[in-house]
Amino acid sequence: MNIVVCVKQVPDTATERKLRSDDKTLDRDAADGVINELCEYAVEEALRLKEAHGGEVTVLTMGPDKASDTIRKALAMGADKAVHLVDDALHGSDALGTSHALAQALKKISFDLVVLGSESTDARTGVLAAMLAERLGVPQLTFANQVQIDKDAISIQRVTDYGYDRVEASLPAVVSVVEKINEPRYPSFKGIMAAKKKPVEKLGVAEAEIDASQVGLVGSWSEVVDFAAAPPRAAGTVVKDEGDGGVKAADFLASKKFV
Ligand SMILES: Cc1cc2nc3c(=O)[nH]c(=O)nc-3n(C[C@H](O)[C@H](O)[C@H](O)COP(=O)(O)OP(=O)(O)OC[C@H]3O[C@@H](n4cnc5c(N)ncnc54)[C@H](O)[C@@H]3O)c2cc1C
Repeated sequence: MNIVVCVKQVPDTATERKLRSDDKTLDRDAADGVINELCEYAVEEALRLKEAHGGEVTVLTMGPDKASDTIRKALAMGADKAVHLVDDALHGSDALGTSHALAQALKKISFDLVVLGSESTDARTGVLAAMLAERLGVPQLTFANQVQIDKDAISIQRVTDYGYDRVEASLPAVVSVVEKINEPRYPSFKGIMAAKKKPVEKLGVAEAEIDASQVGLVGSWSEVVDFAAAPPRAAGTVVKDEGDGGVKAADFLASKKFV
């Protein structure tokens, strides 16, 4: 089974994220890049499916040069090889542009299953899986907290507001996974060393036959026209409990019409 897992590098949520003043895109140099949390669950699920059904796991990442660290992390977890879409022309791509670029790369990689996280921690559009499935003309199974494969049939338990749906389709397909679908493994020292030798193919816009007019700032359908820092959080109300803390708290809640 050829499994491709889409892995995004995002700014470390522990550090302050800034937008660049020149083109209002995220300043990815101002913060450490880390693997998107839900992409770790996606890599783990891909590895478990490979262990159960055989085959190969390929990491696919669109990002600047520094995204190589994140690719190495996924290879250290156990993925076999990687494709890194890297080109200045991709900078500032919106979700539509990113989905076009990833789909073009996927047309060059044979796949039975494409695995994604259900959302990223920086943009959180949560639309890549659907857009990719549309562009590739294959079924999409999203928000999976359980994935089962039987020959060329895939079925998932899909998380919903009211519980679960059981969703089934035929491979090839696109699946997105939610948090807690599994427990991502930590790369072993052996895995980290092996990752250094695993092949990473770098593709630019031309090699991947990406339409440059559909990506980057020029190809984006959405544009950040302005931004402002969030107002500093107002200090809360401190209630000193001199035996009447409960009453004071109830009065405060009543004054805010919470009760
Ligand atoms: C703060 C901010 C706001 C943004 N707002 C918008 C917006 O409103 N509209 C818009 O169209 N674009 C927006 N973008 C751009 C958008 O983030 C990128 O195009 C992004 O690559 C795709 O969207 P996402 O991360 O939200 O995808 P999501 O659908 O949230 O990501 C889900 C999964 O898609 C895969 N994935 C996402 N990006 C990549 C990648 N580069 N390489 C490999 N796999 C990937 C991963 O598996 C990830 O787990 C914004 C970016 C930022 C930083």
